[in-house]
Amino acid sequence: MSQTVNERTQGNGTGTNGHSKTMIQSHAPATGELLGEVPVMGADEVRAAVARARAAQQAWAALPLEERCERVLRYKDAIVERADEVVDLLAKECGKPRHEALAHEVMIVADIAAYFTKVAPHALAPREIPLHMLKHRKSVLHYTPRGVVGVISPWNFPFQLPLRDVIMALIAGNAAVLKPSEVTPLIALKAKQIWDEAGLPADLFQVVTGYGATGAALIDSGIQLLVFTGGVATGKRVAAACGERLIPCVMELGGKAPFIACADTDIERTARGIVYGGFANSGQVCIAIERVYAHREIHDRLLTRVVELTKELKMGDPSTDWVDIGAIIFPQQMDIADKHIQDAVAKGARLETGGKRKPGPGQFYEPTVLSGCNHSMSVMTAEIFGPVIPFMSVASDEEAIALANESHLGLNAYVFSGDRGHGRRVAERVEAGSVLVNDVLLNGGMPEAPFGGIKQSGFGRVMSDDSLREMCDVRHVNEERMATPVDPFWFPYTEKSYKLFRKGLGVLFGGGSVLDRLKSLF
Ligand code: NDP
Repeated sequence: MSQTVNERTQGNGTGTNGHSKTMIQSHAPATGELLGEVPVMGADEVRAAVARARAAQQAWAALPLEERCERVLRYKDAIVERADEVVDLLAKECGKPRHEALAHEVMIVADIAAYFTKVAPHALAPREIPLHMLKHRKSVLHYTPRGVVGVISPWNFPFQLPLRDVIMALIAGNAAVLKPSEVTPLIALKAKQIWDEAGLPADLFQVVTGYGATGAALIDSGIQLLVFTGGVATGKRVAAACGERLIPCVMELGGKAPFIACADTDIERTARGIVYGGFANSGQVCIAIERVYAHREIHDRLLTRVVELTKELKMGDPSTDWVDIGAIIFPQQMDIADKHIQDAVAKGARLETGGKRKPGPGQFYEPTVLSGCNHSMSVMTAEIFGPVIPFMSVASDEEAIALANESHLGLNAYVFSGDRGHGRRVAERVEAGSVLVNDVLLNGGMPEAPFGGIKQSGFGRVMSDDSLREMCDVRHVNEERMATPVDPFWFPYTEKSYKLFRKGLGVLFGGGSVLDRLKSLF
């Protein structure tokens, strides 16, 4: 997922965004309807936005934390009040089913604001760290805002992902400047409009619209932290740009979530989990199920049920109908799905259902199930980011674990088993940032838990109290507990004091029992 600006801006008449160096047109993927235009902002405009954000941040950081939280809650209330407006736009600009727009986007943002405003006073309170040796001193950690946090986000969850990071940054006392994907700029501007109309400081949260170059300008504009969510290829360029400027960054990159179905799993629940976890948001989810390893004892029954359930899904325009499957937000994703499916079929996989675009207007791709897959096929190894679920039969959990771990990505993974303990033991051996036993996708909306990947799925974490603290500089203040008239570490260095230290080394860290070491003193 690393198309260049040129590749991304080729209009295909069905709704690809782009078309101009100065303006981006946003189209509805379900209909091709033109929804609006936004400017392509240049480096000077981005720099000016960050400078304004920095000025606003000074006053914001000076507010007591409780007051900042109270204002963020005002934003949450405004979002909840205007939820239908947001859902309507998500259904249009992303072609996302309205249930998903509400539950996966608006509700998660509301929950993140509610949760982090509740825990922030404790999570960001100064924290004493007990010193194990230097008991005469006291160490306290203070969490102070970093300044301006840059947020660069993708198009698949254009409300939830950026606002998650923006809200956490603001609570911690920072300003936030968001560069949304060029594919979904209007929803980011809606988030900004709600912020402004709730009477909150306009410069504190800003949106800069444009292509990748606008994101690159944001990294070069004097921000103090970047939270990036996107593909691996872009992530490497972004991390390099942050490295050159020594800007700390969090990298939330792609995934290839494996799903291990153990022999003892319940077929009905497992099949329903696979269909939901693979096809929600048309599979355009970084933690979507992208490969199923089913134990051979249950493989055929599970596959049959997954295919039946897939055929029941209703696909269509979510802005006019109640549908399960909406449109493909970014049209190139359909070419990517075609490519991987064709490769798999050419190498012997069987197309069980789907496998093609829906004819007619709009960007729709049929939910697809493949069987007989193996790791020689790209469908099992490359991120698809579309509605494609490939099945592979395995002889044992050992084989499933080995195959699951045979990936350059490690964001989410899933294990389904009738025995919770067994599921947990398998889960503990799968290489991923998060592994869910007997559920799917749920940790995307679990603010207590750190979310992020290992391997090339990125580094750093979003959500959790630790991530809230990551939005801050950590200042360590160390002070005396009691006055020490003589300090043995200070000058002068004498033979006597050296010998004292030498004895101390033996007593504290030498071998044998504590008693033996103490005896050596006399
Ligand atoms: P991209 O990596 O293509 O783009 C992500 C963002 O980076 C966009 O806003 C993009 O702008 C911007 N960008 C592009 N080039 C640069 C640059 N040189 N400097 C700074 N910013 C730049 O990802 P997609 O938008 O295609 O999103 C899909 C990817 O995101 C998938 O791989 C998916 O797995 C991943 N993802 C990861 C998640 C996670 O939490 N780990 C969650 C959701 C998605 P523009 O769009 O204008 O080019």
